[in-house]
Amino acid sequence: QFPFGRRLPCDIYWHGVSFHDSNIFSGQVNKFPGMMETVRKITLSRAMRTMQDLFPLEYNFYPRSWILPEELPLFVAEVRMMKDSNPSWKPTFIVKPDGGCQGDGIYLIKDPSDIRLTGSIQIRPAVVQEYICKPLLVDKMKFDIRLYVLLKSLEPLEIYIAKDGLSRFCTEPYQEPTLKNLHQVFMHLTNYSLNIHSGNFIHSDSVNTGSKRTFSSILCRLSSRGADVKKLWSDIISLVIKTIIALTPELKVYYQSDIPAGKPGPTCFQILGFDILLMKNLKPVLLEVNANPSMRIEHEQELSPGVFENVPSPVDEEVKVAVIRDTLRLVDPQKKKRKDTHLSFHTYLLIFPTQLQSLHAGIAGMKDKQHKHHSLKLSLKLKFYLKLGSCPSAEAASEEPPEAAPGPEAALPSLCLKQVFPKYAKQFSYLRLVDRVAALFIRFLGVRGTTKLGPTGFRTFIRNCKLSNSNFSMAAVDILYIDITRRWNSMGIDHKDSGMCLQAFVEAFFCLAQKKYKSRPLHEQVASLVELCECRLAALHGKRLLWGCG
Ligand code: ADP
Repeated sequence: QFPFGRRLPCDIYWHGVSFHDSNIFSGQVNKFPGMMETVRKITLSRAMRTMQDLFPLEYNFYPRSWILPEELPLFVAEVRMMKDSNPSWKPTFIVKPDGGCQGDGIYLIKDPSDIRLTGSIQIRPAVVQEYICKPLLVDKMKFDIRLYVLLKSLEPLEIYIAKDGLSRFCTEPYQEPTLKNLHQVFMHLTNYSLNIHSGNFIHSDSVNTGSKRTFSSILCRLSSRGADVKKLWSDIISLVIKTIIALTPELKVYYQSDIPAGKPGPTCFQILGFDILLMKNLKPVLLEVNANPSMRIEHEQELSPGVFENVPSPVDEEVKVAVIRDTLRLVDPQKKKRKDTHLSFHTYLLIFPTQLQSLHAGIAGMKDKQHKHHSLKLSLKLKFYLKLGSCPSAEAASEEPPEAAPGPEAALPSLCLKQVFPKYAKQFSYLRLVDRVAALFIRFLGVRGTTKLGPTGFRTFIRNCKLSNSNFSMAAVDILYIDITRRWNSMGIDHKDSGMCLQAFVEAFFCLAQKKYKSRPLHEQVASLVELCECRLAALHGKRLLWGCG
């Protein structure tokens, strides 16, 4: 632990909250720059909306959402239109303040004209979302799933999903929302942090009872009732991959700004918490992505009134220890070099004090800890007591042999983290369209360290890709730039730099694509324009090389 920083480089840096250290030039950091901002409720909703505009069917796992206050008129108009076309539709909406967590400030409404909505969003921007009224119930209770996902690398994209997760239960039997029960949080919100305060909360001492259980125990139950668990897992895997594909463009912009290509810097990885709700028909729905999922393996217990003690939580331990243990195994820098046959390896870790808890979760499974020089230089003997359960999991469901642990790891449990990307890259690659738009954006950013495109950069992009012509003059290009940039900057997301942010560039790009390739589906228009730009830039680059040689 180095509360005041340290000078010697480490192999792995374990930051508490976010990527924030510009003095790291090597090794691996457990956070991506900009991840916190990218998964905030509003930013996530925007990214999902862009993907829904391009691929509505592929992204229908994310509830219809509107961003408030800017989209309040749109929200009102769309709901009215849907009600007019289907009078039997009696929707409920959930309002979630931006930047909130643990259920903080969340409430349900039946109608866009609800007075609470118009009052609160002036103070705090929020996302309003269609409420899933028919969730799958177990023991009459609503529950959600917390799945751990390791984003091991952004370029190339590498994603792993933990084979087991947590199921967090409500503490009041579920009823579909009515005006009478809308405010009953223990019935509608599955947050552990809320339900723990209900008198009905049951701390589990086994993984398949109580208010927090393993996801595999739920799958066991569903499978014994004849549910198609294999299909469910494959739907969850594609939900995770598609969500990360929606997030990567923004993450790449932050990445090049904090760790510019060609300069020495660390590589990054990150454990994300995916919150997923299952509908009655077993369709998974994405609720949110957490950049800092809790890795606590203890919970508080009230011994006597007002006297609390931390006690181990077997369910958390079962799932989280394996996630951290295997993240360390996957990012272990010595792994490739290690040729010896015994089970020890030597890795230096730098842990920022705020998140010791989460690393303890990983170390809890390791025997023989050594602390040297007051630092956390650990000689870790990888002997784990955890065994993976025999219930259906991502791996069992896909009926593949367990990933073989090479050499010295042979005696360890097989990895609980299953690689899903690039493994399934082929079937998802067509969705990575905004990634290619972001690559164009990054190319014209010009100044290193920035995340916004200036007017000159935008003009150069148009000129180099030869997109202006007699119908679209450079004056019209400037107007497009000013219009879109002004609107995005007035939404007050990021006042740090002036200029065009990635989402504004994406909007401008979609505009250009629609103009150029009229009356085709949006994703075809965008794909055609991306190809055209890439081709013209490649030709220009070739010409420049030729001139350079000449
Ligand atoms: P927070 O970050 O505050 O936990 P979430 O988006 O996870 O916010 O929402 C909190 C809880 O509300 C979820 O755990 C879930 O139980 C419920 N919830 C959220 N969105 C929906 C939705 N669209 N439909 C039904 N329930 C939802």
